[in-house]
Amino acid sequence: MKRIAGSTLAALWLVVALFAAGGAPAHEGKKHFVGTVTRIDPNLLTIEAKDAKTVEVVLTAATVYVKDKKPAKFKDLALGDRVVVHATPKGAGFQAEEVEIAPPQKTKSRS
Ligand SMILES: [Zn+2]
Repeated sequence: MKRIAGSTLAALWLVVALFAAGGAPAHEGKKHFVGTVTRIDPNLLTIEAKDAKTVEVVLTAATVYVKDKKPAKFKDLALGDRVVVHATPKGAGFQAEEVEIAPPQKTKSRS
């Protein structure tokens, strides 16, 4: 009996290790898009990811905006902003749950 319990425990640890190795720190089943805003529509945000891939994410009334770690609004979005979009797969596309906004990268300035 001890042997069985031992191998079950080992198997459990293996599962834990595999999950840890997956390394996705965020929410499960969600997608994260990082890129630059290239188009803003009232309910659709288009971003160009680093690999030059264009991604469209649906914005909803429930979408949360964060800018400089503070609550923000849809109107705080601007073309050229760098964003991190936390999205949920919905139908054929993605629905934005949270949009983190960072201003366009500037050459170094004192601030
Ligand atoms: Zn997320």
